[in-house]
Amino acid sequence: MAKDPAVLLAPGVWRIPLVGDFVNGFMFRDADDQVTLMDMGLKPSGKKVIAALRWIGSDVTDVTRLLLTHAHSDHAGGAAYVAEQTGLGIGVHVDDAAFVRSGTVPAMGSRLGRLMSRLPGNGFAAVPVAEELSDGQVLPVAGGLRVVHTPGHSPGHASYLHEESGVLITGDAIFNVRRLRWPVRAFCSDFAMTTRTAHVLGELDYTTAAFTHGPELREHPREDIRAFLARHPA
Ligand SMILES: [Zn+2]
Repeated sequence: MAKDPAVLLAPGVWRIPLVGDFVNGFMFRDADDQVTLMDMGLKPSGKKVIAALRWIGSDVTDVTRLLLTHAHSDHAGGAAYVAEQTGLGIGVHVDDAAFVRSGTVPAMGSRLGRLMSRLPGNGFAAVPVAEELSDGQVLPVAGGLRVVHTPGHSPGHASYLHEESGVLITGDAIFNVRRLRWPVRAFCSDFAMTTRTAHVLGELDYTTAAFTHGPELREHPREDIRAFLARHPA
């Protein structure tokens, strides 16, 4: 059975499965029909993002903001296509902005990661940055979208909290692939920092936790994330 191009998380908030549930993007639609797109997956996923947008009954002309959780190829790879289709630049935390502008991936903390990051094709097409974001900033997206800086996976990695719907987007701070887990250590700029800064996600209030890698948790997600963090103290 064919899967839908988008999964409704809350009124006006969708997950876009870009590689099954393994790589996700997100959409937010305001009451006045403006749409914000977040994370565009790998390079071929840009088209899937636009298809998902059309599937919810919106069009490229409705999109007013593009956001990234961080400057890795499995999130920013499709961004150039989506930026071109919408005529918009990217909003990203200030500490990842230079990487988005140059289409390069931040240095990784392990030898394997450094090796991988030098492989041909590891970067992504450079995209203009329209907004440099900072921790605690609340963007005027669908009633308010809070930037939660969770560095470590990359210097400017950000999670996002949509307070109105109670949807948290962890980004790559925590994965939900088969179970809650840390992102792959080799691909983190600073793995120890990743595990330290993720603890802020246990302190926020939300009723759905959505992940850039893995399906969402709709039942007691905060308790599950707090339990995960308690098992993995900083
Ligand atoms: Zn990722």
